[in-house]
Amino acid sequence: MIQRIDLRGADRTAVDYRAAVPRADFDVEAAVPAVHAICEAVRTRGLDAIREYGERFDGVTVDDIRVPPGATAEALEQLDPAIRAGLEESIRRLRLTCANELEHDAVTDLGPGARVTHRKVPVDRVGLYVPGGLAPLVSSVLMNVVPAQTAGVRSIALSSPPQREFGGQVHPTILAACALLGVEEVYAVGGAQAIAMFAYGVGSCAKVDLVTGPGNIYTVTAKRLLKGQVGIDSEAGPTEIAILADDTAEAAYVAADLVSQAEHDPLAAAVLVTTSERLADDVDAELDKQVSATKHVERIRTALTGNQSGIVLVDDLEQGLDVVNAYAAEHLEIHTADASSYAARVRNAGAIFVGQHAPVSLGDYCAGSNHVLPTAGCACHSSGLSVRAFTKSVHVVDYSRDALAEVADHVVTLANAEDLPGHGAAVSVRFQQ
Ligand code: NAD
Repeated sequence: MIQRIDLRGADRTAVDYRAAVPRADFDVEAAVPAVHAICEAVRTRGLDAIREYGERFDGVTVDDIRVPPGATAEALEQLDPAIRAGLEESIRRLRLTCANELEHDAVTDLGPGARVTHRKVPVDRVGLYVPGGLAPLVSSVLMNVVPAQTAGVRSIALSSPPQREFGGQVHPTILAACALLGVEEVYAVGGAQAIAMFAYGVGSCAKVDLVTGPGNIYTVTAKRLLKGQVGIDSEAGPTEIAILADDTAEAAYVAADLVSQAEHDPLAAAVLVTTSERLADDVDAELDKQVSATKHVERIRTALTGNQSGIVLVDDLEQGLDVVNAYAAEHLEIHTADASSYAARVRNAGAIFVGQHAPVSLGDYCAGSNHVLPTAGCACHSSGLSVRAFTKSVHVVDYSRDALAEVADHVVTLANAEDLPGHGAAVSVRFQQ
């Protein structure tokens, strides 16, 4: 079912592991013209454009994109108590990790009367995106909102696609999660048009400073196009899982974890990197068995048989580490003997799951870690969502006259060296009789 790529015996000094490992055909450039048109339409025609795209892409007619007051509380009242308990436990764990991530001001004394403070400031207003095209990702409400609240963001708006099944309203479980977290500004807008609404401000939705959250190719492309007009977190697109495994791994667990992420999207990627041909065969057999027993068989089969998924055979775990570091997966599981020591040597991954009892599904819902993570290799330069994403920092420079006098000559000399004498004069003027 899943392609096999054999890197055993490859010349390690010459092979380009990033090119050798399969990757989703997630072509943001190809989506740019269509998404640019959506963003422009929202910028120039506002609500009319949003309604038209809702009809075209979501199959609903939405008169008022703002979820009415009271709808979130009502959804919470109707929520299945078991789902509520799961959400509450997830929130509790996320709050603990977020509180621990909170960074504090750094004050540096540079001499008498000379002080620089690196002050942490929360972003004022954020727009949080919660996917809802293929599945209503209620967990993404928590992953977005909890770090934003911990950072101290004052104004939070949230948007998720309108659901035909619920009369064009946001999915009720998503609304209930908003109520649990006290988020009241909610919009029934999906995809690129939601990101554009946040970036420009439309109708009752005032422009935001930062947009965060995962999504499909249209959502991710809009984030890339509107970056600058608005801040973004990472490009968190279709899910990827890579698993580094040796002969000690349990094939049934490995296969189940590959399936769990393939379930997200036909474009999702599932990659096993292993030293064991026996495990590769066993995982193949398990996939045959497990896939047909799942609910979303077609979606999973498309993801697993696509170019983006595969089993990669390597000579040893050293080569395996080189492969996974080059691939920079969104999620990386390590199923080897002494998994922690290999995990410590991974440099590029959105999140790392250590050992056979830490599946990605745990991180999707209840680990206390965040599931909004960089995809498409962006984990080599970007981080997953955290409190830090909702915070910016500003240097506060506080010098007395005497402290300025200490460095005045240096400032004048350096300003002259740059042929900017006005800069030097702005210091000298303070010491003229
Ligand atoms: P979504 O909510 O981002 O997109 C749905 C919207 O896409 C619809 O509301 C519609 O407006 C728009 N759309 C549909 N067809 C369109 C078209 N032809 N042209 C323009 N717009 C169109 O997402 P989804 O479809 O539910 O997928 C969610 C994605 O998020 C999955 O790929 C999943 O793997 C990914 N995900 C990623 C992470 C991460 O952190 N990387 C986390 C969770 C989920």
